[in-house]
Amino acid sequence: MDITLPELNDRINQAYALASPCILCPRNCKVNRKKGEKGFCKADYKMKVRHIFPHFGEEPPISGTYGSGTIFFSNCNLNCVYCQNFPFSQKGEGDEISKEDLAKKMLWLQDQKCHNINLVTPTHFLPFILESIYEAKKHGLSIPIVYNTSGYEKIEVLKLLNGIVDVYLPDMRYGDDISSQKYSNAKDYFPVNQEAVKEMFHQTGEVQTDENNIIKKGVIIRHLILPNNLSASKSIFKFISQNFNDKILLSLMSQYFPYHKASDFPELTRKITLEEYQNTINMAEMYGLDNGWFQEFTEEEDKKYAGVYFNN
Ligand code: SF4
Repeated sequence: MDITLPELNDRINQAYALASPCILCPRNCKVNRKKGEKGFCKADYKMKVRHIFPHFGEEPPISGTYGSGTIFFSNCNLNCVYCQNFPFSQKGEGDEISKEDLAKKMLWLQDQKCHNINLVTPTHFLPFILESIYEAKKHGLSIPIVYNTSGYEKIEVLKLLNGIVDVYLPDMRYGDDISSQKYSNAKDYFPVNQEAVKEMFHQTGEVQTDENNIIKKGVIIRHLILPNNLSASKSIFKFISQNFNDKILLSLMSQYFPYHKASDFPELTRKITLEEYQNTINMAEMYGLDNGWFQEFTEEEDKKYAGVYFNN
């Protein structure tokens, strides 16, 4: 973290000012969460988490040898029809946790030698999470903070994280507004997402790793390939190439599976094919994006979902 504890305290206050009425994300629901009103994400005014554990399936510089200290928060501001985490991202499963207990969990993850604290879908709980980071920092938390997000974020909110977040792990899900509206109810996803990723890069700069190739600073963009080119990958690759070239890492994900409500959309009811996968890789290479990972792909399910990444 590059800011002082008093500065962090100031950011906490600013985050609280955005949380009720809630304008923490581009939905700008303006609901009074303090009084129990719920917006699009259905998040309460109390933090809720589903899983906390050392995660070994993230990209190599995130998981490293000892795992990424991952905290999955309940609820989400995107609600994708195919979300594999829908029981907690959309139905809100999870347990309430106090800022003090979350701080203790962060310190526990550090004690397990995790390389970082990996906050998954955190924005709707931002003020509470920042308080936990504050508590944990006071008691010795020193590993990098990773902000693992759908990428549907406001610049104003991201600016509160400047100097607190070390590594951004945003999705770039859709390169057009037809798919983003149809499958995630977010017509403005792509323009909002592009500006968000620019701000993230502005804060962290180029990827920096330590002597063990563990990431210390930087941005890794995740792109999930949907069947029938529904993620409009070309526009995303063009944006990355024009703005960051090889200063950002790209993680190309092949594990799409028609979970949740995907069966309501005929075009989404299958996994991607090897041909689609290879075509997407070729397209990324055409834009000079060979800095990152492509997931191992095989049509045998056990291997396909092994979560193995390899450097291209
Ligand atoms: S965080 Fe939730 S309640 Fe707040 S603006 Fe976003 S979707 Fe709405």
